[in-house]
Amino acid sequence: MTKKTLFLLAFLATSLIINAQNTVIKAGHFFDARNGKMLENQIIIVQDGKIKEVGVDLKFNKTDNIIDLSSSWVLPGLMDCHVHITVNLPYRNLKMEQMYTNESTSLRAIRGTVVARQFLDNGFTTIKEIGNDANYATADIIKAIKNGWIQGPTIIYAGKIIAPYGGQSSNVNLEHERFWSFEFIDADTPDEIKKAIRKNMYYGATTIKMVTGDNGIYNAEDIKAAVDEANKYNLKVTVHAQGGLAGTNVITGGAAGIEHGFGLNNEQLRLMKDKGIFLVGTDFSYDNWYAYGVDSATATALNNRLVDRLKRAYKIGTPMAFGTDIIVNLPELNRVESSLKVLETWKSAEIPASYILQSMTIKAAELLGIDKVRGVLESSYYADIIAVKNNPLNDIESIKTVHFVMKEGEIIRNDKK
Ligand SMILES: [Zn+2]
Repeated sequence: MTKKTLFLLAFLATSLIINAQNTVIKAGHFFDARNGKMLENQIIIVQDGKIKEVGVDLKFNKTDNIIDLSSSWVLPGLMDCHVHITVNLPYRNLKMEQMYTNESTSLRAIRGTVVARQFLDNGFTTIKEIGNDANYATADIIKAIKNGWIQGPTIIYAGKIIAPYGGQSSNVNLEHERFWSFEFIDADTPDEIKKAIRKNMYYGATTIKMVTGDNGIYNAEDIKAAVDEANKYNLKVTVHAQGGLAGTNVITGGAAGIEHGFGLNNEQLRLMKDKGIFLVGTDFSYDNWYAYGVDSATATALNNRLVDRLKRAYKIGTPMAFGTDIIVNLPELNRVESSLKVLETWKSAEIPASYILQSMTIKAAELLGIDKVRGVLESSYYADIIAVKNNPLNDIESIKTVHFVMKEGEIIRNDKK
């Protein structure tokens, strides 16, 4: 290498350092998710997709890209721990099996890209896609997002749902035996469960979802076999269960989370607290229940049951992560708007807004196993940052006023006021 080349290289390196442009966010109000408190006038410096520094009166270069959110409430990107982005059933007509037979994996994937984008645009920078996506449709959606073909949130992905024989279908005649394998893996022994986990991993799963109590109940040993196998690969196991013996076995087996848990009693909720097992309550509002096709009195009764369970879980101290599970859009509302109806249930249960926000950020990150890199706005964390127009601690529904979204340092949305 000649002296001249060396000089040129040194000059280029120096000019790169001088011109390195950070993004600087001036946050008028700032949610400290770790402590559940709102701080004032923070500055966030973002570099290479991550948060470099956060604090008051930080120094930055005039040439930096400055984003003025001084009249907004700035929060970590939200997380929904229970979504089905490739599913959409008609209003008040819940025919799951008909969808299995009428919609191909590719059609489901195309829908999934649209719904994933809706989540991102509305402030959800991370979602847990928890199965029911035909033949691994979401695995390809994740690839398309990584390739930059489309924009979408970070997706923690369950692959096919692992369940006792029959998946979540009932009354299928023998001529159509196992047609549910389009969506589920039948696994009835610890060995079959292990094999199902390995198959899901092979096709892109980053978490494991099981179902118990719909067709057959897993023993605690079955759950433990899944947890041990998943632990080898640093994956978490979360299980759809309502309560009763099915719920107790999930708790004894040591899963990371219970999905729904509509029928959990206080003793079970206490055991979950002791063992650090998360409840992902999928707390449907009246409107969500009604959308499923039940009559008005039944929708009220079912919602009241969830308000009661949510109140008890909060009082007992069961860890909770936010999850919606909406597969039917409400009239005139998109998927995220339909999903956020569940906030009405949280409000009826009088859960403090700061706790709800934590369940959508730091607590969700803990359940998903990403709490060292996402869920709070601190140095070295990914710059998943959103802003809303009103104070969500005064009314949690303010999270519906998202006007700025950044995912891993990239600005996805920045509405001019
Ligand atoms: Zn679900």
